[in-house]
Amino acid sequence: MQSNQLFTLFRLYIYSLIHSFTHSLIHSLIILLGANLGDRAQTLRRAADLLSERVGLVVQASGLYETAAWGVVDQPAFLNQVLLLETELEPEAVLDQTQAIETELGRIRHEHWGARHIDIDILYYDQKIIQTSRLIVPHPYLHQRRFTLVPLAEIAPEFVHPLLGKTAVELLGECVDMSDVKEI
Ligand code: AMP
Repeated sequence: MQSNQLFTLFRLYIYSLIHSFTHSLIHSLIILLGANLGDRAQTLRRAADLLSERVGLVVQASGLYETAAWGVVDQPAFLNQVLLLETELEPEAVLDQTQAIETELGRIRHEHWGARHIDIDILYYDQKIIQTSRLIVPHPYLHQRRFTLVPLAEIAPEFVHPLLGKTAVELLGECVDMSDVKEI
C-alpha cells in the first residue's frame, strides 16, 4: 500500500472516530406536554419553543390530542402532545430546564393531578433506566395512559420501552385505559 493510500485510510479512521464521539453526546429525548388551562394550544407551542431553545432540537412533534382529564375528572379537558428532541444535556439537567419552563409558563399547582397551565414529563431518555429521588425514566405511568401512548405511537411507533421490552404500538395495543383521545 502506498503512503498516500495509508494516509487516506488514517484520515477516514479519524473522521469515523470523531463522528462516533460527537454522536454519543447526542441523546434522544421524548417528552409529553399537557395543558388544561388558558389557551392550551398556545401554551404547548410556547413550551416547544422554549424546549428547542434550552434543551435541544425538536426533531418530531405529534399532533395535538384532546383527552378528558385523568385521575381527577371534574376539570377541563387536557391537550397533549409528544415531542422527540435531540439533546446534549444530561437527564437531571433536562429536568431542571423542564421545571423552569413549567414555572415560567405559569403552572398553578392546586392538587396532585389537578389543573395546570403546563405539565412537562420526560418519557424516555435514550434507552436509559433512571431512578433517583427527582427523576424516574421511563416515566412510570406512560404505558398506562392512552393520552401518552397515542401521540407517542404517532411519532415513535417503534421506540422500545427499556423495561417492558415493547414498542409504543405494542403498548398502545395492550393499554386498558379506554379514554377517548381525539386529534384536533
Ligand atoms: P407531576 O405532578 O406529574 O408533574 O410530577 C412532578 C414531580 O415528578 C417532580 O417533582 C419531578 O421531580 C418528578 N418526576 C419524576 N420522574 C419524572 C419524569 N420522568 N418527568 C417529569 N417529572 C418527574
